[in-house]
Amino acid sequence: MKRIVLTGFRGTGKTEIGKILSSRLNAAFIDTDELIETRTGRSIPDIFHYEGEERFRSIEREIIASLPEKDAIVSTGGGVVCDPKNMEHLRRESSVVLLVAGIDTIEQRLLRKPRPPLTGLPLHEEIAEMLDRRRQNYYASSDFCVDTSATSPPEAAEQIIALLQNGVPGKHQRTTALEFFKTGRLPPVPLKKLTDILTAPDGNLRTRIMGVAGYPCAHSRSPNLFNALFDYYQINYHYTLFEDPELEEIMDIARAIDAKGLSVTIPFKKDVIAYLDEIDEHAAQEIGAVNTVVFACGTAIGYNTDWLGVRKPLVLMKGARAVLLGAGGVAAGAAYALTDLGMEVTILNRTPQKAKILAERFGSMWGAWDEFDRIKPDLVVNATPLGMQPDTRNPLRADQLDKDMTVFDLVYTPPETPLIEAARAKGCTVITGIEMFIEQAREQFYLFFGIDVPAEKVRELVL
Ligand code: NAP
Repeated sequence: MKRIVLTGFRGTGKTEIGKILSSRLNAAFIDTDELIETRTGRSIPDIFHYEGEERFRSIEREIIASLPEKDAIVSTGGGVVCDPKNMEHLRRESSVVLLVAGIDTIEQRLLRKPRPPLTGLPLHEEIAEMLDRRRQNYYASSDFCVDTSATSPPEAAEQIIALLQNGVPGKHQRTTALEFFKTGRLPPVPLKKLTDILTAPDGNLRTRIMGVAGYPCAHSRSPNLFNALFDYYQINYHYTLFEDPELEEIMDIARAIDAKGLSVTIPFKKDVIAYLDEIDEHAAQEIGAVNTVVFACGTAIGYNTDWLGVRKPLVLMKGARAVLLGAGGVAAGAAYALTDLGMEVTILNRTPQKAKILAERFGSMWGAWDEFDRIKPDLVVNATPLGMQPDTRNPLRADQLDKDMTVFDLVYTPPETPLIEAARAKGCTVITGIEMFIEQAREQFYLFFGIDVPAEKVRELVL
């Protein structure tokens, strides 16, 4: 048996349900909080009181790292999900089940069995505050989600067993999803693999599916990268292409097969927002484009990690004079990142009216393509598809480049675009689209799984 890990806030039933699962499945039961108390000879409130939360978290991390990897039901402390190293260990060879419950239910349970406070707030507010703070991490921890508000612990345990046997909350949905993939435009190799997974009669049903939604998206490097990361971290997922001209079809199927999440690419980054329950207020609302959808516990939440992928390689260029070429979805994220770095930004676009609309949102300047020469920028960011295979056009002429410029081409197929080649030849500092790809993919992986992949690991896998 693979390991089953239970995550969730205090009062969601992890210990009780874990014990029932342990006897139903004839597997050892491990409660990480109990292990911490046994190993230290102190109660958890005492560790917090005398040694502080940092010390507690460090002992917890050691315990999590030393857990057996097989034949066990593991119940975890409520804050365990916030540490990416813990998630790396807990996810290995495991199915992680997130237990959730409504705030009132949790409050009632905690009133019956009090635990030490986590904040100075009244109990109801504390629960709301902590759930809100940790929600992203809880959702990232979840392979499967069970709401224990209105179920007894034995019923919840049965639900978990059924879920792990069926792979989704309904018996036949995964195989009907295949019909979509068969009529879609998937290349034959991923389809064969997907068929094997979706129709597997045994434990493979636990394999969760996710992928990139776009049209076209066969050029995407995400399937290779994500599948290699799944092997590396030993997590039971398969990443494929959701390639179809109809976004509605993609979203229906993603929900029907209980997909873990989607990376979203051309042309759906704006349209996908209409299909989501929430979008992340920090970036997606400001940018108006979503490139990451996390499905968890019946909700679909949209994020934008593109802007972080643009921002990270440019952190040393704060305050620079920048020209941004393009005014589409990725350009919106780039404009947000450049503005966030305090740059003086001018957006130039083939359709100047679109540059104007984007510039007004971020307080930037704007213009038509041919205004480039008067600006003399320190930084040029290409956010158009020009130069993306099989297109070999260069958005700028060689004589428009200057050796003091930094040129960041967001196109990453091929890594050496015509613009990058011309900029190298001129002696400019160059940043390839791979750098953006690496950073936005790391952020996505964190949102999907709560694991912090080192940049070097992603680089090794994509190059
Ligand atoms: P988009 O929303 O379709 O926007 C494309 C932009 O490029 C628009 O401003 C469009 O101008 C302009 N454009 C298109 N064709 C053009 C042409 N022939 N000449 C001049 N301008 C042209 O696309 P997007 O989602 O923003 O993606 C843009 C590029 O970013 C992609 O092609 C991809 O290579 C790159 N990208 C990189 C990463 C990474 O991780 N490195 C991730 C995602 C995307 P109009 O307004 O006039 O139509």
